Amino acid sequence: MKLTEVLSLVKDTQELVIGSGVINTCSEYIYKYWPECSPMIVADTNTWKAAGQQIKRELSESGLNIAEPLIFETPPYLHADYRNVEIILEKAETASNPVLIAVGSGTVNDLVKRAAFELNSSYLTVGTAASMDGYCSSGAALSRNGRKQTMECGAPKVIIADTDILVTAPPEASAAGYGDLASKLTAGADWLIADFTGDDPIEEKVWDIIQPNLDGWLSNPEKTAEGDPQSLSAIFEGLNFSGLAMQALGLSRAASKASRAASGAEHMFSHIWEMSGHLGSDGNPVSHGFQVSVGILCVCALMDEVFDMDADEIDIEAALEAYPDWETRAAEVEEQMGNLPSWEEYIDICREKHLTKDELRAKLVKVKADWNELRDNVKNRLPSYSKTYRMLKTAGCPVKPEDINLKRETAISTYKKAQCMRNRYTILDLAYELGVLSKCIQSIEDSSQYLN
Ligand SMILES: [Zn+2]
Repeated sequence: MKLTEVLSLVKDTQELVIGSGVINTCSEYIYKYWPECSPMIVADTNTWKAAGQQIKRELSESGLNIAEPLIFETPPYLHADYRNVEIILEKAETASNPVLIAVGSGTVNDLVKRAAFELNSSYLTVGTAASMDGYCSSGAALSRNGRKQTMECGAPKVIIADTDILVTAPPEASAAGYGDLASKLTAGADWLIADFTGDDPIEEKVWDIIQPNLDGWLSNPEKTAEGDPQSLSAIFEGLNFSGLAMQALGLSRAASKASRAASGAEHMFSHIWEMSGHLGSDGNPVSHGFQVSVGILCVCALMDEVFDMDADEIDIEAALEAYPDWETRAAEVEEQMGNLPSWEEYIDICREKHLTKDELRAKLVKVKADWNELRDNVKNRLPSYSKTYRMLKTAGCPVKPEDINLKRETAISTYKKAQCMRNRYTILDLAYELGVLSKCIQSIEDSSQYLN
């Protein structure tokens, strides 16, 4: 799908500008959308050097009345913590009629998003790395009083990414972006499964924003690793189309359900690790894209295991026998999730998706009858474990749990937790309902190929 068509499907974002030298067009967009405002740049030490100071110069030269910038000093690590939103709001109070310009990637963007929301204003984002798909999604992942949550806010009105700057980002940042974009392969496969079972029908327009272009965006992992401008431009575009797909889906369903467009079971692995406070070997949080990369491989291993089965191996009676009653299931959920903050909410989530035996039987009968069709659809969308492994490795992404300072056994113990996490039908739910989840996890654990 072309950009103009994608933009016509969303409400917040009006412009996505990617190219060499486009950083010098910021003033043009400020004049177009916020002619009466004083632009206030928010950056961190690194993104200020990479882009912020150049933007400030360009805005000044264009005759705009700019507010004093806010530069978060890094290191130490800039946390996506609500306290930093308050710092932005305090600074904005000192400016007259400010419009915020986020200069950075993940954290700066999330902080500014929420601050702009509280100021009741739209904002402009200048992306400094093709590192994640959150630039133009609605909602900001922030901690408040120690609890990570998705806080309400809009997406930027204008997003600008200068490829001359994207190429100066650390290679790990671009690799993280490649990983986050590759997650649309597993997310797409999960949506095909949910569509097939009737749990979550595909919305074609939203599907078409990401899926038909995805193989093209991901086609050059070597060049991504080399920092090639064209490849990084493709990754940035793919990541932002993913955000736009979530925006588009958010117009017809609740925000918590809109990320279906770009997030499947692989993201649940990442969320579990993040909520458990997992840190990298340097003591800092592992980037979203790197966690997701390992999550993708966890999911690919399960997809390979499940779809290795033939239809005649699906034993509906055994699956019905293995499916627990609600009381047993609730105890199972507590056992898996009891160590996580606010774990009781997962009981409610799992209650919502708990089936009666009749419902399960009807579903499994259909799954078994059309198993080959489902398998072909999934295999057409999702490359095998080994191919995905090679793509991610070539791009510089982590390909085993140890690469993100996680024990293999911890990664393997995450399957059942991830299955309890959301009411979003994925391969985890299909395997659970087929009664083969434990068996598949055991095969993954016993295999020398997977997650090694
Ligand atoms: Zn993501």
